[in-house]
Amino acid sequence: SLVADLRTARRRFSVEFSPAHDEATAARQWRAVERLAPLGPLFASVTYGAGGGDRDGTVELAGRLARETPLRPVAHLTAVGQPAVALGRVVDDLLARGVRDVLALRGDPDGDPRAPWTPHPEGFQHADQLVRLALEHGVDSAGVAAFPLGHHESPDLETDLRHLLGKVRAGAGWAVAQLTYDVEDFLRLRDRLVAAGCDVPLVPGLLPVTSPRVLEVTRRLTDGHEPSWLHRRLAPLLDDRGAFREEGVRVAVEDGRRLLAEGVEVLHLYSLNAASNVETLVRELGLAAPSAPAPTSQGTAEEGSCRT
Ligand code: FAD
Repeated sequence: SLVADLRTARRRFSVEFSPAHDEATAARQWRAVERLAPLGPLFASVTYGAGGGDRDGTVELAGRLARETPLRPVAHLTAVGQPAVALGRVVDDLLARGVRDVLALRGDPDGDPRAPWTPHPEGFQHADQLVRLALEHGVDSAGVAAFPLGHHESPDLETDLRHLLGKVRAGAGWAVAQLTYDVEDFLRLRDRLVAAGCDVPLVPGLLPVTSPRVLEVTRRLTDGHEPSWLHRRLAPLLDDRGAFREEGVRVAVEDGRRLLAEGVEVLHLYSLNAASNVETLVRELGLAAPSAPAPTSQGTAEEGSCRT
């Protein structure tokens, strides 16, 4: 199962894709899939967009990965704008297509992550409910989001941790941490989980900041917590695309090395639908599976556990 494989960590990285909006991107994305599959990622996740089209794209791409590649697909799923019954149907559709693991998320209000969250009247208020639904429908595992700096709606880190533990108690078997620029932030979250007696595998995300556009993406994902050291390293290179890219990759490799040295087993690599940055990280960090065997066969749903 995915959870067992996260624990044994014979595979050292996972990779993330997003549904493509045009044919050129879809073609580039599939070339990336074909180049990255032989490196033996533990799973390949597909994000779930706010718009209706994106949702279908997630199910289709995850299903295609299951059908046409040896990769283990993980479909992100959010509770945005859908009643529980419709979410159940999405899970059933994923299972019918051979997608057996989901990342269960609440999501953000369409188009504006900072707008107040309003659940669908017959939908879910929080991600723990989606975890339960997915497991009831028979997924092998449900992962959840974790926030090293705390989710922006959480009043403090303690409350944020309590809610993360609630998702594990609901049955989540693993968690992916939101991107941070500082490895220390991730390590502190891992410490908080361990201190709470929670043994759920926690995977950090790694996204090389290879262009000013990617810097914008990460600014959004990290609520603007951009450290001054990163600014000092990248700002002078804004007019030199090649040098900017090299420095962005160098930073990600340094972060990856630090995480591995701290005992992190699996790194979640954002592909932005292209292969080359992921390939570089896999090579520089020695993450390729030795013989890239096929993922282990499916088992029964496996959940994490928390003492508290
Ligand atoms: P929740 O766990 O529901 O948390 C939301 C807020 O409610 C938090 O402040 C939390 O502390 C609080 N809370 C949680 N449970 C309870 C409870 N039982 N009672 C009271 N308060 C509670 N978004 C997308 O749209 N598509 C994606 O594909 C996507 N992928 C992501 C991948 C990762 C790794 C991460 C970290 C985030 C991703 N997101 C994605 C963004 C995510 O949907 C947002 O960050 C969203 O605001 C929170 O989602 P959540 O699942 O953490 O929600």
